[in-house]
Amino acid sequence: MSEDERTFVMVKPDGVQRGLIGEIVSRFEERGLKLVGGKFMQIDDDLAHEHYGEHEDKPFFDDLVEFITSGPVFAMVWEGADATRQVRSMVGETDPAESAPGTIRGDFGLDLGRNVIHASDHEDEGANEREIDLFFDEEELLDYERIDAAWLYE
Ligand code: GDP
Ligand code: MG
Repeated sequence: MSEDERTFVMVKPDGVQRGLIGEIVSRFEERGLKLVGGKFMQIDDDLAHEHYGEHEDKPFFDDLVEFITSGPVFAMVWEGADATRQVRSMVGETDPAESAPGTIRGDFGLDLGRNVIHASDHEDEGANEREIDLFFDEEELLDYERIDAAWLYE
């Protein structure tokens, strides 16, 4: 399994406002994933429409766009073995109410429309690469070794 799979993760405006950036970053760092990109930014209308394009016809789409553009987000790229699937399992279910304790949404959320974090869907082939390309330029993704790399993989 490739140890350099990359996935896109974003602390949503509610997570930023609630002071959860550090806690969320810590979880991925402690798991052994490698941070290769990070950007504190505000999403504009065009980017929101592109990022959530698959949901354009859903009844919650306008509220979702309004919410995701309502304040700063912290966008990140994390790298590691099976990163997309591993991160999703740490994030929990889409609805925090259905998310197990121990997951990010299960520990920090209660409401479907305020679920703290976005992560690329491992069941949507190529979503990780598409979302990384949408939010980051290639030169914003850094190539380096974690000092504990030899202790993270056999
Ligand atoms: P995710 O990949 O787990 O984030 O879930 P989806 O891709 O299905 O949906 C994208 C985002 O839209 C979710 O994270 C929620 O913030 C929001 N969302 C999804 N379904 C609903 C819904 O039924 N109602 C509302 N209000 N928001 C929803
Ligand atoms: Mg999704």
